Amino acid sequence: MLEKDKKAAGSGSSGSSPQKVVIVGAGQAGLQLAMSLREEGFAGNVTLIGDEADLPYQRPPLSKAYLKGDAGIDNLRLRPEAFFDQNRVTLRRGERVARIERAARRAILASAETLPYDHLVLATGARNRRLDIEGTELKGVFQLRSRLDADALKDGLAAARRLVIVGAGFIGLECASVARALGKEVIVVEAADRLMPRTLSAETASAFLRMHGESGVGFVFGDSVTRLHGDTGGRVLGVVTRNGSEIAGDLVLIGVGVVPNVELAADSGLEVANGIVVDADLLTTDPAISAIGDCSTHPSRFADGAKLRFESVQNAIDQARSVAARLAGRPKPYASVPWFWSDQGKWKLQIAGLSTPYETSLRRDGAREGQFSVFCFSGGKLTGVESVNSPADHMAARKLFGAAGALTIDDVENASFNLRAAAFATGDGARCN
Ligand SMILES: Cc1cc2nc3c(=O)[nH]c(=O)nc-3n(C[C@H](O)[C@H](O)[C@H](O)COP(=O)(O)OP(=O)(O)OC[C@H]3O[C@@H](n4cnc5c(N)ncnc54)[C@H](O)[C@@H]3O)c2cc1C
Repeated sequence: MLEKDKKAAGSGSSGSSPQKVVIVGAGQAGLQLAMSLREEGFAGNVTLIGDEADLPYQRPPLSKAYLKGDAGIDNLRLRPEAFFDQNRVTLRRGERVARIERAARRAILASAETLPYDHLVLATGARNRRLDIEGTELKGVFQLRSRLDADALKDGLAAARRLVIVGAGFIGLECASVARALGKEVIVVEAADRLMPRTLSAETASAFLRMHGESGVGFVFGDSVTRLHGDTGGRVLGVVTRNGSEIAGDLVLIGVGVVPNVELAADSGLEVANGIVVDADLLTTDPAISAIGDCSTHPSRFADGAKLRFESVQNAIDQARSVAARLAGRPKPYASVPWFWSDQGKWKLQIAGLSTPYETSLRRDGAREGQFSVFCFSGGKLTGVESVNSPADHMAARKLFGAAGALTIDDVENASFNLRAAAFATGDGARCN
């Protein structure tokens, strides 16, 4: 077979559309792929396999409205049960794919059942990073990824008085806000010298620090938890840090990031490097297998082609759409503008592009108190815009990046600078209000 034919085989990138698509992982990306395949007119078999018992659901509310009690399970579900029959999507929930036989193009379930495929899509997501320290098995220690985790945390929170959160990332801080709103004492321990260090500019992070501080969240920076200790009944009493501090808490939430679920890919010989490696078409090193969502790492035009792995709803949805279009015979390489949001207390953070790493950041305040955007530049180029309580700025920034519009540091420093006008000037003419 010629190299070009090999690439086309089972990939949907030529006229020969696959007839049997098997999707592993029924989360945000997997469900979106099933939906988008039908929207694209794909007429073949679609099987969606997920190891969780729930109907496919969205995770973002788990650390926000669902945890607070303002949303229930019905608000989480991405589609009702009837959707699957109506759209001829075979949903196998509570089932795990144990391995892939690439030569025979078969996925093998944990039950030993064999599912043949023409094209396989890995949408296996990520799992919480574990802390390899003493005491994580104590009662009252939680992590948050699934609906079941959220239910357990919610019950724990109801009975708790003082919460210690390990890690000042998005999920830890969202939970900190919810816990404060529920009247709990909260202290966050972060190894770095500021909050959200991996993903946010120092400028925006310090504004969030002030906001959380004013709402009563306590912080310990530059220190890490080395041990959890408990009572004789096995209940957590608090954490001990590297610097020797003891911080009391009757509930501990560990939020130290995730690791991608790559084992199926790695065990079957696909390339893996902090995620399942895919090309711009989201194909793995096997042309009959794609990978999307949190589990995959793709060459990003927002990082000069370097491979990046995103953990966001936007990425899961847009990658699924891109693969669906290809499998339906209309290839559409993945090049979406990355964006992300986080709700913390009354503040809404929205990021367009990639704000880290950056060399220069410039803050522009909005018309109302608490509204601002931070513009991050790297090599003199605008790479990310972090908007706080400013959805219109966020939409404008997405439009600007989508149209490959360029803003210089001088532009943003100019007293008459207006982001929406700049986006309108470079965009497709649609208004951003
Ligand atoms: C608490 C929380 C809050 C979040 N908040 C935000 C937010 O505000 N904004 C935002 O943009 N993003 C947010 N995210 C991230 C977002 O939810 C993820 O990026 C998104 O869910 C990724 O979708 P996915 O389909 O790739 O992975 P997932 O949604 O994790 O789905 C993967 C599924 O595959 C299953 N699976 C894995 N291996 C197998 C196997 N071998 N067989 C069968 N099934 C398997 C997993 O159990 C899981 O159900 C949040 C995440 C969490 C946990």
